[in-house]
Amino acid sequence: MDEHRFGTRDKRGQWAPHEPLQVGPLLDWPWNAARVLKWLPGYFLPWNAVFFALAVALWAWATPSRETMQNLAPGWIAFLFIRNSAVVLLMFGALELRLYVHRRQDLRFKYNGSFPADRKSDVFWFKSQNLDNTLRTFMSGLPIWTAYEVLILWAWANGIGPWAAFGDHPVWLTVFALALPLVHEVHFFAIHRLIHLPALYRMVHSVHHNSVNPSPWSSLSMHPVEHLLYWSDTLIHLLLPSHPLLVLYHLQIGGTGAVIGHVGFDKIETGKETAIDTHAYAHYLHHKYFEVNYADGALPLDKWFGTWHDGTSEAHARMTERFKRKKASSAMSRSSSRREDPGP
Ligand SMILES: [Zn+2]
Ligand SMILES: [Zn+2]
Repeated sequence: MDEHRFGTRDKRGQWAPHEPLQVGPLLDWPWNAARVLKWLPGYFLPWNAVFFALAVALWAWATPSRETMQNLAPGWIAFLFIRNSAVVLLMFGALELRLYVHRRQDLRFKYNGSFPADRKSDVFWFKSQNLDNTLRTFMSGLPIWTAYEVLILWAWANGIGPWAAFGDHPVWLTVFALALPLVHEVHFFAIHRLIHLPALYRMVHSVHHNSVNPSPWSSLSMHPVEHLLYWSDTLIHLLLPSHPLLVLYHLQIGGTGAVIGHVGFDKIETGKETAIDTHAYAHYLHHKYFEVNYADGALPLDKWFGTWHDGTSEAHARMTERFKRKKASSAMSRSSSRREDPGP
């Protein structure tokens, strides 16, 4: 496919789509029913539908029985860890293999004009982004993801929490299931703003931001504290009436779903003239500019807080202006604290 039909590549090799990013219209003002209807299919397809299907398959064929999960025994806990690791290995691995190892579409539709494997960097373990990212995913990401799953499924097996059956509460459970990607988005926005506070950023979130040129393995490459915060939204299933299938879906949205923002390509080619839109650009801009797009725009959270970057030059100018103001005010507060502090 010809990438120039859909975007432009600048002199530094950075590709950007022609079309500005749009925030989801569900809570955007002025509210427009036609816009909501047009947006809805993209809310489900392809990604959320894939994650829901995956959750159904895991619930039907790869989740231990209720009796088994009543006791915290190592066997089923290890099984869930291996099962989750296998899903991640298959999903992230397939994308990495096709786009970054075999480079099947070369740089076409790739935002950053280089591949992480071609550059060694001291910020990564063993100077390798891929190795660093993969190890962090399996050493702390998957254990913490599985720990949340074990805790919540164990609570369900023992009747702890307001659990509901689809037969008794079909409407509520359907509404809840439909809203889960938005629940994840609101929670992610909140914890993401939190870990961008300077001290937490330095200690915790900088690990994730080391991958300025993200690839699928960057998705869950985080500090363990960020992993703990990241999946804490699933505790909502212990507070609101829910069903274990929704827990699995929710964990897929955050876990496997993290790959969406980190694919690094705007389109994944499936044929000579066909491709899947990845919706990765909003989060790619976060990795590029750090203090924009704390969420992915399904809800207009960044727009409300003044941090939305839709890829246009106007948004870029607004961002630059905001950064200038921030720099000036921190320089002012530094100089006033120097004046107040007479020194030793
Ligand atoms: Zn990221
Ligand atoms: Zn961040």
